[in-house]
Amino acid sequence: MSIPAKIRRLGEPGLDLNTLVSLSKRRGFVFQSSEIYGGLASCWDYGPLGAAMKMNVKRAWWNAMTRRSDIVGLDAAILMHPQVWKASGHIDGFSDPLVDCKDCKTRFRSDNTESYLKNKKCPHCGSQNLSEPRNFNLMFKTHMGPVEDSGSVIYLRPETAQGHFVNFINCQQSSRNKIPFGIAAIGKSFRNEITPGNFIFRTREFEQMEMQYFVEPGTDEKFYHQWKETRWDFYLKYGLNPENLRFADHPPDKLAHYAKAATDVEYKFPMGFSELEGVHNRSDFDLTQHMKFSGKSLEYFDEPQKKKYIPFVIETAVGCDRLFLAFMCDAYREEVTSDDKGEDVRIVMGLHPELAPYKVCVLPLSKKEELSGPANKLRDQLAEEFDVTYDEAQSIGKRYRRQDEIGTPFCVTVDFETLNDQAVTVRHRDKMTQERIGMTELNDYIRKSLKNF
Ligand code: ATP
Repeated sequence: MSIPAKIRRLGEPGLDLNTLVSLSKRRGFVFQSSEIYGGLASCWDYGPLGAAMKMNVKRAWWNAMTRRSDIVGLDAAILMHPQVWKASGHIDGFSDPLVDCKDCKTRFRSDNTESYLKNKKCPHCGSQNLSEPRNFNLMFKTHMGPVEDSGSVIYLRPETAQGHFVNFINCQQSSRNKIPFGIAAIGKSFRNEITPGNFIFRTREFEQMEMQYFVEPGTDEKFYHQWKETRWDFYLKYGLNPENLRFADHPPDKLAHYAKAATDVEYKFPMGFSELEGVHNRSDFDLTQHMKFSGKSLEYFDEPQKKKYIPFVIETAVGCDRLFLAFMCDAYREEVTSDDKGEDVRIVMGLHPELAPYKVCVLPLSKKEELSGPANKLRDQLAEEFDVTYDEAQSIGKRYRRQDEIGTPFCVTVDFETLNDQAVTVRHRDKMTQERIGMTELNDYIRKSLKNF
């Protein structure tokens, strides 16, 4: 085992988001959508490894939420009654101010474009021949049913949260939970973003993981701070480097119309610190609005206190795709060793084992039936419990490197000695140490090692 002289990470010279984009394509994490037709801007498909890893990201979040006794799950429809978006404020307020350049036809946001804010210039061609800012609603519109008139307009949801609010009473009564309790959901959301980009950081179709925690008014500040801490701990548990994380509290004059307090958990992506998750104290705004627009009571009766109230809501909202990207960025490392023959670079995706697409790879030392037979049997034995892959092409060294690059924590090699001692060599991704383990104990060994990783 050699000790790497140097470790390089994303964000250092020559290593940026493009490094990940090309690894993602080469290894099957993420592909551009509709690639054979030239691609569709800002839409991405998760390939074999990406789909597996995304599922693991969702499972980690889902378990962190719904294995608590005070949180239940929900899977609400993407299409909702149009009045929902009136009540939530999205029809009137979910928009960005847009300016058109009359010369080069570029369309850009007037509220965050530097050249416009400084001296009213187009960021593309520098022209000052610009339109006045116009509000552009970010919701995708479509029609329900065969008639495309104004009465059939319906929206693709721009956030999952409204499903939680309109189902508050359904969830509370069916689960018989008492306040404080939460509703958690994972689902697709759609926003017709004006400036999507940075790979899967900002897209028009994305997946959100949102939790709404309903509390008694007056206890909201305490729970807001608790949730900030809980979410921070989640990121540390799954291996994000705390130096790459920070809170950015919203100043009171920048709060959204519904919010009493809000913070962004920011992650240091290669392009700089940017929002990963929002934690918001939404007050009783949403339930009050839905009561007003639906005419139905969404009040909660507090039995021990014998009083009714409209709960306050603490929300935690993170994008699954954005979190996937943060985990990839944080995990990527290049271990550089050099000797008189030159430089050797080992690319390692140092993912937390729960997030890695595969936990184990089985590698027969030779393709011959005498080894591939038992190796395949071992694969099946491991697959009863773990996500496992199998690789018999090329030298063992190259195969180890392939697994390092996709974050597989353990490689198991079946060699000719295995035929005599019924044991295999287990190699660890990070330290590259090797151990000889009996095949009958292998599942136990992997299970324990994953737990203590
Ligand atoms: P941003 O300021 O980045 O546009 P936001 O403040 O509008 O985000 P929220 O409405 O609070 O975001 O949504 C919660 C989370 O959903 C965000 O923290 C982010 O992780 C994710 N998210 C929002 N918009 C997108 C998008 N277009 N693409 C991918 N993820 C997104």
